[in-house]
Amino acid sequence: MKPFVYERATSPDAALAARARPGATFISGGTNLLDLMKAGVERPRHLIDISRLPWREIVPSDEGGLFIGSQTANSELAGHPLVRERYPLLSQALLSGASAQLRNKASTGGNLLQRTRCPYFYDTHMACNKRDPGSGCAALAGHNRMSAILGASEACIAVHPSDMAVALTALDAEIEVLSSTGVARRIPIGDFYELPGTTPHIETRLQSGELIRAVRLPAGGLGRQRYRKVRDRASYAFALVAVAAVLEIQDGIIQTARLALGGVAARPWRSAVAESALVGQRPRAAAFEAAANAALEGARGHHGNDFKIELARRTIVRTLTELADSTGG
Ligand SMILES: Cc1cc2nc3c(=O)[nH]c(=O)nc-3n(C[C@H](O)[C@H](O)[C@H](O)COP(=O)(O)OP(=O)(O)OC[C@H]3O[C@@H](n4cnc5c(N)ncnc54)[C@H](O)[C@@H]3O)c2cc1C
Repeated sequence: MKPFVYERATSPDAALAARARPGATFISGGTNLLDLMKAGVERPRHLIDISRLPWREIVPSDEGGLFIGSQTANSELAGHPLVRERYPLLSQALLSGASAQLRNKASTGGNLLQRTRCPYFYDTHMACNKRDPGSGCAALAGHNRMSAILGASEACIAVHPSDMAVALTALDAEIEVLSSTGVARRIPIGDFYELPGTTPHIETRLQSGELIRAVRLPAGGLGRQRYRKVRDRASYAFALVAVAAVLEIQDGIIQTARLALGGVAARPWRSAVAESALVGQRPRAAAFEAAANAALEGARGHHGNDFKIELARRTIVRTLTELADSTGG
């Protein structure tokens, strides 16, 4: 590990001012950043610890939704009564991630900004356009079992690893950020993450020095919710495929549908075509299969991960079937 300066921010203004220093970066729970520093992928010269900023509130928002401070630990968020009652999808997604110890340290802001788990990104001896632009993508012809099947490019086939972000995408969350001048703005999560294209090192719409202040969820009453994660082990593993689904069913007809996939692309993959295929239908197998086919249209594997296309299709159908059979909503 390289030497670095450590500074604990005592206020948001102090954090934003310190971030302007050369080679500075924020650290929150450190559960991803420290691993990347140990691997030599990240080499910050100045760490600004934001974990003591008083941003752990989970409170009803003025708009009838929920305001979640960015320092809230993943475990706190998963267990909060308002989240469990109104946004159980989010709670399920969080509890499916990492381990209890990690969830106690991992923050809401840090979870959104965690980096891909593509093994070539972590191995500094291998080509990776995300880590080292212009060096190539070793995953294309390499070990790509976990890689993307949607929205990938010839430059990068890495996936975003966050479970929480997939649930937040299905719930239409907004990310509230503070700029270096202290100005606040909100970014809908659907616009927050970038697809790789020719610039896979640009991962989000955050501008340099911006600090995530909070996540905002819209008003509840969202219907039946389910997060299903398929992975190699029953716990403590990243998703091969994950499905976040919300259905509102009235009088035997699907009124609204929200569907987001995890483990398949560089960002949580919301499928508007699949949602349209569901609305107005009876919650039956034929409608679920049509929606799954629509969601996977254009999906492409890279040999090692070809199986994920069928896995995603079946996971969507299974999740929607479970929702239709449930009593909620
Ligand atoms: C063994 C292991 C298994 C895991 N399994 C899963 C899993 O199954 N599912 C899953 O979703 N995650 C999983 N994780 C990832 C874990 O959820 C993340 O490491 C964690 O959420 C990151 O939060 P943090 O606060 O520790 O971030 P940090 O490591 O402190 O920071 C991560 C990045 O975010 C930036 N950052 C942090 N907070 C802010 C902020 N407020 N504003 C601006 N920038 C900020 C930092 O500068 C850094 O670049 C796993 C991690 C490990 C180590």
